[in-house]
Amino acid sequence: MDTPNESNDELRKRLSADQYYVTQEAGTEPAFSGCYWDTKEEGVYHCVVCDIELFSSETKYDSGTGWPSFYESTESNKVRRVEDRSYGMVRTEALCNACGAHLGHIFSDGPPPTGERFCMNSASLRLQPKVDTD
Ligand code: FE
Repeated sequence: MDTPNESNDELRKRLSADQYYVTQEAGTEPAFSGCYWDTKEEGVYHCVVCDIELFSSETKYDSGTGWPSFYESTESNKVRRVEDRSYGMVRTEALCNACGAHLGHIFSDGPPPTGERFCMNSASLRLQPKVDTD
């Protein structure tokens, strides 16, 4: 997995154990355990490793799975899709297109308008809350 300009040791220090396990070792956090599965706050979700914008809270929905779920990314080129044949299943793995961090998987049982479900790990994301300007 490519992590430009940052060594593995540096990443291990900067990320929590959960964040490292999910993003660098393609781990999956237990359902209903992450910090964002039930979050309704408005804002933009960034890659926890390289900080690019990945998802808007406007496309987040309650999938009932216990993982933060979105029906699309902020731009289609933000998330890289890779076929994942682990655990005897054929799934579409979602990677950060900028740094290669593992984010989660993409399924085709999502809501309109895309019909896709980006099933993400909270540990791969950082929510930048929307700033109220009134
Ligand atoms: Fe990234």
